[in-house]
Amino acid sequence: MNKDIETLDIIGEEHIATSLEMPLREGAFDMDDNLKIELIQKHFKEIMHILGLDLSDDSLSGTPHRVAKMYVKEIFRGLNPENKPAVKLFANKYQYNEMLIEKNITLYSYCEHHFVPIVGKVHVAYISNGQVIGLSKINRLVQYYAKRPQVQERLTNQIANGLKDALQSDDVAVIVEAVHLCVASRGVKDTSSTVTASYSGRFEDEKINK
Ligand SMILES: [Zn+2]
Repeated sequence: MNKDIETLDIIGEEHIATSLEMPLREGAFDMDDNLKIELIQKHFKEIMHILGLDLSDDSLSGTPHRVAKMYVKEIFRGLNPENKPAVKLFANKYQYNEMLIEKNITLYSYCEHHFVPIVGKVHVAYISNGQVIGLSKINRLVQYYAKRPQVQERLTNQIANGLKDALQSDDVAVIVEAVHLCVASRGVKDTSSTVTASYSGRFEDEKINK
């Protein structure tokens, strides 16, 4: 599994996804949030110290705690299955067999290779099998899977699978268009966006027939 540092560097810089499942270690949630915050705070303080920052400065002294809390409670909260939004299905005869599209869902995720933001839009479509979910639940599901260190391909698939699960239907399409700040603000310094898509069920047939 562990490759040499040069190969690992290439995988990261080229954003090559190595697994569709979230690579979580065993016992990932044995610690509670408070303990995680306490430990991350300690280590982040060390990182800042090593960089040469003066932690006694009033503007910096609260940063380790702020970052730790933000990691656990906000930007990486989607790692914990406990934070998965509950989704209720509603019967809706009027939308039977009709396609429903939710466009331009705001996406803020984080590159797992660099831990900097991935910013973009998600477009979702599904064909109702007579059941629908509340529109805001689509946004919440997207946000849940986005709040993890991610690669865009995995994020796209996780959103699709989450929706298929919630809708109890395979007829789901997901398109993600995003800018990776690790590409835009450093490295090759380009703001090109990356588009990934997942088509299942009848969307897959349509794709093949085109
Ligand atoms: Zn990156």
